[in-house]
Order: sequence, then structure tokens, then C-alpha cells
Amino acid sequence: MPDDSKTVYLTFDDGPIPEVTPWVLDLLRKNNVEATFFCVGENVFRYPELFEQIVDDGHAVGNHTYHHLQGLKSDNLTYYKDIVQAGKLIGSNLFRPPHGWLKRSQYRYLSGKYKIVMWDVISCDYNQNITKEEVLKNVLDFARAGSIITFHDSKKAASHLRWVLPRAIKALKAEGYEFSKIEFPKVRRLYYSPAIQRIRRFRNNLRQLSRWA
Ligand SMILES: [Zn+2]
Repeated sequence: MPDDSKTVYLTFDDGPIPEVTPWVLDLLRKNNVEATFFCVGENVFRYPELFEQIVDDGHAVGNHTYHHLQGLKSDNLTYYKDIVQAGKLIGSNLFRPPHGWLKRSQYRYLSGKYKIVMWDVISCDYNQNITKEEVLKNVLDFARAGSIITFHDSKKAASHLRWVLPRAIKALKAEGYEFSKIEFPKVRRLYYSPAIQRIRRFRNNLRQLSRWA
């Protein structure tokens, strides 16, 4: 994100779930921090009141597919349908691909419909093979102005998150950072795919030829 102010963007993937998300929301509220939640459709379906709480608290929400599908392992149509299904519940123009991977063709298609939001700082809060101190260090060592920082409101990440998140917020605030949610008012409606561009060129050529004829 723009680095002209000392702002960082906290993001939480894979929720909402009752075991973690209310705790995260509570902490953010107490610290007056706005964040962005990339929600999994099936969790929103299961826990609509949690999703509503995220929105009511003023945070941004993004689409993280319905079944947490991996782009590289999915055929494109299945993948897009999953995103549309999630979009019916989440209604956001932000998209984050699960695991951070997309095929080039998927990127081309989706970037015309969504703002695709990756990250530059990953906490690895889900990784049980590293200590909570290392998770905190991942955040504090690499955060800079404009950073998008990724956490997970998931069961796997919960134990690390509960220790790391309050400390990360406190330390970043002490360093003078402000927190903001991710918002893009407008996404291009139509992607000018290579195929469409080829057709346009072809038509233009035809038009010119007919002018000369
Ligand atoms: Zn995810």
C-alpha cells in the first residue's frame, strides 16, 4: 500500500470462527484498530452473526473463496464459481487467494473483477514449528510504512495469535504506526484480456481497410 504515511494494514484470513474471531474483534476494539478480514464463505454461512459483527465494527471484509480452494490445484471454472458463491455472502471487491497462489489465467480474469490483495509481511502464526516469539519477530522485523500484515483467525493459529497480536499492536503503536483497513472504491469492470485486445485490433484493422477501400 502507499508508503507516504506510517500506516500498516492488519489482515486476518480464514475466519470467521467462534473460537478466535470474537477475541480478535474485542482486541481490535479495545485498541481502536481497523483491519481487514478475508473470510471463507463456508464460515460466513455457518457463523453469519460473526461476519455481521466484523462489518458492524467497521472493519473491511474480503473474499477468500467459499471452500478455501487452492487456485493452482483447481480448474478455473470451479475456482471462479467458488469465489462467486462466497461473494454472494461477503459482497466485497477485495479478493485474497488462499495460500497466496493463482494461475496467471486466474489472475488475469479475477483482477478485472476484484482488487487482489496479497501481503508483504506474513506472521506465520499458523506454523506450530516456530515459537510465538518468532511469530512476533516476523511481524516486527519486516513491518514498514504501507505493509500489509497477514494473520489468521483460525484454530491452527489461535495459540500463537493470542500471544502475538496484542504485543504486535502495542509495539507497532509505540513505533508510531497507525492502522487502517484496506479499501478500494472502484475496480475495473472489464478486463481487457489478450483475446479481447486481439479482437479489438482485428476490428480496427477491418474498419481502416474499409475506409481505404
Ligand atoms: Zn487462507
